[in-house]
Amino acid sequence: MGAVIVGGGAAGVCAGVRLGQLGVRYVLLEKSADGLGGAWRNNSYPGCVADTASHTLSFSFFPNPGFRGTHPTQVHSPVFLLLTLRVFLCCCSLSC
Ligand SMILES: Cc1cc2nc3c(=O)[nH]c(=O)nc-3n(C[C@H](O)[C@H](O)[C@H](O)COP(=O)(O)OP(=O)(O)OC[C@H]3O[C@@H](n4cnc5c(N)ncnc54)[C@H](O)[C@@H]3O)c2cc1C
Repeated sequence: MGAVIVGGGAAGVCAGVRLGQLGVRYVLLEKSADGLGGAWRNNSYPGCVADTASHTLSFSFFPNPGFRGTHPTQVHSPVFLLLTLRVFLCCCSLSC
């Protein structure tokens, strides 16, 4: 059995991780040629930060105690996503 994930934002990343943990093969489809990251890829204006505190804005399967500051910046969130992708999504197929 296989699965298709539409969108490579945070939701798509989480779906990929969970499917991978279950041993389900999947393809992740991302429409943007700019790559993965979703809202955090698109919003790059100066001063862009998350609304919620750094220590709560992480994945349960990949906590990140190394956050600096009370709220993650736009720059740090996609980096965090990409770190997660590198660790957890190494076996998926990615189509843009
Ligand atoms: C400045 C800012 C601060 C925020 N702060 C917080 C916060 O503190 N806490 C919080 O929980 N959330 C916050 N958010 C909300 C944030 O958007 C969500 O947390 C999360 O990133 C949403 O992820 P998502 O995967 O659902 O959607 P998105 O990030 O929007 O990703 C969707 C992806 O799907 C792709 N896609 C869409 N349609 C298709 C298609 N037909 N085919 C292929 N690909 C497609 C898009 O290109 C995109 O990459 C913030 C957002 C911004 C911009």
